[in-house]
Amino acid sequence: MSIRIGYGWDSHAFKPGVPLKIGGLAIEHPEGLAGHSDGDVLLHAITDALLGAVSAGDIGSFFPPGDPRWKNADSSIFLNLALEEVQNAGYRIVNVDTTLVLAAPKISPIAGEMREHVADLLNLKPSDVSVKAKTPEGLNVDHVAQAHAVVLLEKQKDMPELRSISDVIESQKQLEDVVQDLVSQVHGVEPRAVSRPPFDTDDIT
Ligand code: MG
Repeated sequence: MSIRIGYGWDSHAFKPGVPLKIGGLAIEHPEGLAGHSDGDVLLHAITDALLGAVSAGDIGSFFPPGDPRWKNADSSIFLNLALEEVQNAGYRIVNVDTTLVLAAPKISPIAGEMREHVADLLNLKPSDVSVKAKTPEGLNVDHVAQAHAVVLLEKQKDMPELRSISDVIESQKQLEDVVQDLVSQVHGVEPRAVSRPPFDTDDIT
């Protein structure tokens, strides 16, 4: 199968005296979201959607709420693990759609900034991320923030270099160069200088 879908949902109650963080964005508000971590309801929902899309469990199975290591943790840690799971399964994100449900603060003035921030965390273009917000009309949950997230993944393209690698490799040096090129393509970074021993292996006799 070349595409997969994932869905995540989360909720956190508001609590006075806690900084409010949604979508990785610090928001001016008298209350924050209570939680073992930083309570970022949106990042938790996206994390669960990503893990669900590759059938890799859920956020609680990787980061148990009672574990002291995750006390007040930045939720981008959870998101990064989910991104690794997606990559390890051989998929990449096509797009992410989310809906926040909360009475306050108003999200519309900061939705664009939040979208850019989430896109940045996911290594996506902002146009591949959607952040919508609604108030919880008739639900009687005005002191709670909820988030829904849907992600679409597609299978990563096979790299042609890997299929033909045995045809072009003639020496250890060539192999190292090809591996460096592949690594820099995947990570989008310049190949780093490789330190080599100051002697030729033929000298060791
Ligand atoms: Mg949560």
